[in-house]
Amino acid sequence: MTVKGVAILGSTGSIGRSALAVVDAHPTRLKVVSLAAGENASLLADQVRRYCPDFVAMAGGKGIDRLKAACGPNLPAVGTGTEGLIAVATQRSADIVICASAGTAGLEAVLAAIEAGKTIALANKEVLVMAGELVTAAARRRGVAILPVDSEHNAIHQCLHARPASEVRRIILTASGGPFRDCQADALERVSPEAALQHPTWQMGRKITIDSATLMNKGLEVIEAHWLFGVTADQIDVVIHPQSIVHSLVELIDGSVIAQLGVTDMRLPIQYACSYPDRWDGSLPSLDLARAGRLEFLEPAHDRFPCLGLAYDALRAGGTLPVVLNAANEIAVGAFLDHKLGFMAIPRVIQKAMQAHDSQPVSTLQVVRRADAWARQYARDAAHELELTV
Ligand code: MG
Repeated sequence: MTVKGVAILGSTGSIGRSALAVVDAHPTRLKVVSLAAGENASLLADQVRRYCPDFVAMAGGKGIDRLKAACGPNLPAVGTGTEGLIAVATQRSADIVICASAGTAGLEAVLAAIEAGKTIALANKEVLVMAGELVTAAARRRGVAILPVDSEHNAIHQCLHARPASEVRRIILTASGGPFRDCQADALERVSPEAALQHPTWQMGRKITIDSATLMNKGLEVIEAHWLFGVTADQIDVVIHPQSIVHSLVELIDGSVIAQLGVTDMRLPIQYACSYPDRWDGSLPSLDLARAGRLEFLEPAHDRFPCLGLAYDALRAGGTLPVVLNAANEIAVGAFLDHKLGFMAIPRVIQKAMQAHDSQPVSTLQVVRRADAWARQYARDAAHELELTV
């Protein structure tokens, strides 16, 4: 059995820890070669002791100082910032790069990993939302596979099973609907960050949990699906499925619909991305359908959750508009989490930024970075104007 070398960007986050659990379950198949984390030096130090990677990176020098203090003489080679992420992603012994770093920091590292011929297991939505054109073109040129770790896209990838796009009529992404699925419009204006952080079916980070509550997470996934599977906005549908058991579906041109079902545990899609095209035995419990009982499917309420429609608008318009959507959303969600912005002001900030933006073709990473910076500043100002005055 050949051992696959694994590099993880974002090893101390929720996906990163699940990825390490997959490594633990398959010690003869997977070996950690490099790790990158943001600020959590104490957890990264634990991971260094346990997995003995050749190289580790953190966001800044202060994190590295704390890591040095915690690791002592066992400290491997280290790096910081974008350079550090790139070094983690291009380690010679890495075969697969699990990209789970938060936000936009991983963009350069993913492109560098593609150039280095690594298989990409992608958990970070921003990479494709911001630079889908650049990333997928680079992967095609280099003959590198981008395997989706996001549970819905992982499901689609399994359903498609290498069928050509010409056989696909439609992709159907499922959404849990979040904690406010049944909330009335006026009540949505007043929901708190604490309530929004209570996700009914998945345990995730704070930003993505808010994105699930606004349905922006699904909107970003629509854009992600476009780039991963070569389908148009019109070929991507979203259906609310509160039980999160059907992870997504594909309708073929003959009308047949293929779905992937499973327990809600990120170890499943991460393991599939690591084992692909093979299947490995898993340590997860079997899905008990009788116990799950009823599976429901509902139309999303676009009027109460405008973020989903804004994402479709951005995808259809193309250029740098998806970059603006993503950046403005990040700023608005941050302000909401800080109790400075109402829940329904999140889509208002994003819409204002999209309307004010002068979109351009995404020809270089520089164009992406410039649109991202513009949108962040614009959204900060717009959020300030809409700020809660309580
Ligand atoms: Mg998802």
